[in-house]
Amino acid sequence: MPPFDLVTPRSVEEAIAALRAFPPDEVAVLAGGTDLLLDLEGERADPRAVVSLRKLPWRTLDWNLGALTVGSTLSLRALETDPELPNRLPALHDAVRAIGGIALRNRATVGGNLGRSAPASDLIPVLLVLDAEVDLVGPDGERRMSVDRFVLGSRRTALGRAELIRSIRIPEARPSAYLWQRVRPANDISQVAVAVAFSPAHRSWRVALGGVPPRPTRVPEAEAALAGARPSASALADAGARLARHEALVTDRRATDEYRRTVASVLFARAVRATIVREGGPG
Ligand SMILES: Cc1cc2nc3c(=O)[nH]c(=O)nc-3n(C[C@H](O)[C@H](O)[C@H](O)COP(=O)(O)OP(=O)(O)OC[C@H]3O[C@@H](n4cnc5c(N)ncnc54)[C@H](O)[C@@H]3O)c2cc1C
Repeated sequence: MPPFDLVTPRSVEEAIAALRAFPPDEVAVLAGGTDLLLDLEGERADPRAVVSLRKLPWRTLDWNLGALTVGSTLSLRALETDPELPNRLPALHDAVRAIGGIALRNRATVGGNLGRSAPASDLIPVLLVLDAEVDLVGPDGERRMSVDRFVLGSRRTALGRAELIRSIRIPEARPSAYLWQRVRPANDISQVAVAVAFSPAHRSWRVALGGVPPRPTRVPEAEAALAGARPSASALADAGARLARHEALVTDRRATDEYRRTVASVLFARAVRATIVREGGPG
């Protein structure tokens, strides 16, 4: 591993100043380190300085005003074991449990999963269907944006220079489900995944694909075909066919396009049915 200076700021201001002190390609952010340390060991990253977020007061979880707000350095395990999560945001519970094994989830953070912006991220598809927002803090102050606008591509986000993810805000009261397919059930990443949520307030569905390059993505054509709290069998089949035609379902080293299309439509039908029957589900 190439040598670097480790900086451990005790406040947000110090963290931003530490990031500003270096050109962007010479400084890296360290949260749980499960992605970054692999990059350092594999010499895919060669920063002069690494800024650790360990001492920032962001390991928080708060249910308030109809939303869950999660601090960016909260571990995935702390999110997963919150007693309210399975009932209030079931798809998020499904997704966080899909990530690695328990040892990995003890270290890996929510902000790291979003900040890394991997095509196979399990959290991002669910955050998309739940209309989650991300709170950023940087040299120019604070700003909030949708996760959809934040995630630009593989390892590409809307973060500006010296900007950090402070927290993620997830509206609740939406029945939802997340299903995935991978070669091995643990310590592997999804070949394809489907997240689904129904908004009772808007009487509308949200559908997203995960495990696909270049980034998890909403599928508006499938959302439109579902229309209504209890879609008919033909509406479900039509929506599934639209989803299976999505351009993100391509061949790469993890799966063929044909495999992804077939599996995605099966996962989609199951996820919609699971959403409908989940306690508190539509209709
Ligand atoms: C064996 C193994 C299995 C895995 N399986 C899965 C899986 O099934 N599903 C899945 O989704 N992921 C998986 N991962 C990926 C990884 O564990 C997750 O992406 C994890 O959530 C990253 O969090 P971290 O805190 O460790 O990130 P770190 O490695 O600390 O950070 C990664 C990068 O994210 C950015 N970042 C982190 N926090 C912030 C912040 N607050 N503000 C701004 N930028 C920030 C920085 O650019 C940083 O360099 C796996 C990894 C391994 C090693």
